[in-house]
Amino acid sequence: MKCTFLGVGSAFDAGQSNVSVLLEAEGRNFLLDCGFNAGHECMRTLQDPSMLDAVWVSHFHGDHFFGLPFLFGSFLTAGRSREFHVCGPSGIEDKFTQVIDLAYPTMRAKLAFGVVFHEFSPGDAKSVVGFNLRTCVMDHSESAQGLRIERAGKAVFYSGDGRITEDCRCIGRNADLGILESYGLDETIKGHSSVVECIDFATLAGMGKVALVHLEPFVRTCRSDQIMNMLAQVDECEILLPEEGFSVEL
Ligand SMILES: [Zn+2]
Repeated sequence: MKCTFLGVGSAFDAGQSNVSVLLEAEGRNFLLDCGFNAGHECMRTLQDPSMLDAVWVSHFHGDHFFGLPFLFGSFLTAGRSREFHVCGPSGIEDKFTQVIDLAYPTMRAKLAFGVVFHEFSPGDAKSVVGFNLRTCVMDHSESAQGLRIERAGKAVFYSGDGRITEDCRCIGRNADLGILESYGLDETIKGHSSVVECIDFATLAGMGKVALVHLEPFVRTCRSDQIMNMLAQVDECEILLPEEGFSVEL
């Protein structure tokens, strides 16, 4: 499985695209979250918009799903005919309809392909376009879900947005890659996780690799030396601080 970090930034980081990761396995492409500017990066990476099979929306904050109008506009202009799958928390179909109609009121009527919705409650497990998905609750200001997604014998745990919960410890166990929201450095922040908490979670869960994303802009730019010192002291797993465009093969 190939994982490409299309964006690694938090909601209002002018220097980074919003967190979004493209998973490619056995000829299928699955997008994790699609914030304000994630669709642009996705289309630049894939080149053919019809190659994208599905998207996971972790929760209904704009930096995680306001890129959908761009994504679907790209499908439309490319003449897509293959059906597309949209996965997310309960209410995903209504939110999808709202965001598309607000951006382009006539777009949905012009789509020449089917859109299949998959609603998840925390704890649900379903298969979508050959990927196996299982979700858990996150501790965030908006109802949000973490995701374990598997294909080709590899597993990725994606926290989306929010503090790690006990349920994360269960479904994140032994993942080949953890993609973890790390908004703070070592402080406790309501509704967000930190670099320290994520390192602790990843090592206890036995993850192979961990990518820290969604850092608060000041933490990313001004405290990077402290972060690198912390990462250098971890032996149990490989911890990455990916830049936009970075890929890892599992
Ligand atoms: Zn959020």
